[in-house]
Amino acid sequence: MITIATKVKEVREQVKAWKKAGLTVGFVPTMGYLHEGHQSLIKRAVEENDKVVVSIFVNPMQFGPTEDLDSYPRDLEKDSALCEATGANLIFHPEPEEMYTDGFCSYVDMSVLTEELCGLSRPVHFRGVCTVVSKLFHIVTPDRAYFGQKDAQQLAIIKRMVLDLNMDIEIVGCPIVREADGLAKSSRNTYLSPEERKAALILSQTIQLAEQLLQSGEKDAATIISQMTKKIESEPLARIDYIKIVDAMTMQQIPTIDRPILCAMAVYIGKTRLIDNTMFE
Ligand code: AMP
Repeated sequence: MITIATKVKEVREQVKAWKKAGLTVGFVPTMGYLHEGHQSLIKRAVEENDKVVVSIFVNPMQFGPTEDLDSYPRDLEKDSALCEATGANLIFHPEPEEMYTDGFCSYVDMSVLTEELCGLSRPVHFRGVCTVVSKLFHIVTPDRAYFGQKDAQQLAIIKRMVLDLNMDIEIVGCPIVREADGLAKSSRNTYLSPEERKAALILSQTIQLAEQLLQSGEKDAATIISQMTKKIESEPLARIDYIKIVDAMTMQQIPTIDRPILCAMAVYIGKTRLIDNTMFE
């Protein structure tokens, strides 16, 4: 059985022993309820490192007061089976009190990259992400850490944080894993009713439309966004939070496709907020 550590001390001791033996450590931070998207990160980490740590922690700090912290799906038994079957060596599953001890008041805050896209509708989100990922990096001290392109803004932010704060960790981005019909895999897809699940297809279909426009040489961001907006609006259950085209490094909006870009969106299907994106070099 794979070991599940709940204490920071246990993780530190295990990783120290591995490093003393000259082994490399890969790390996959998650909020659990693992699916093939998470699994693809774990697989890659297993391929590229001697030992792999997966953290499963629904981080309260990255949820706003009206968001889904309490209802976020959890299944530690299934998650540990998936981690073990995929070749991970240790799960770190702390209680919130282990991560945020009494009197906690230190944060990792970033400007610019966090102020666009999801940062606008989720104002405390990225401060919570940067703080918890920094803490996890200090606890696990991995050689490499794996993040999904599914959360493209998060990936760009973590890369920037590691650069800005001189963290000696290689950040590896991994492609979006999708359901057979195109919907990006997400733990939040479980919130969708059968009717909403069908409607949710509009996200990946709209991303495909953007990819076609980009590949055909369309250079005007407003034209692409307007066509994407029309497409989403054709689905009665969908409500747009944002559709934007930004510089892939800085996350700042750009009018013309003249550099590597991220085309990203957040769309509500009923009450469930889903995200999807595509990169274009
Ligand atoms: P989460 O548990 O949602 O915080 O996600 C943990 C990690 O898995 C993040 O780096 C996500 O970007 C990544 N991830 C989630 N869904 C997918 C997916 N469908 N494809 C690739 N990576 C994913």
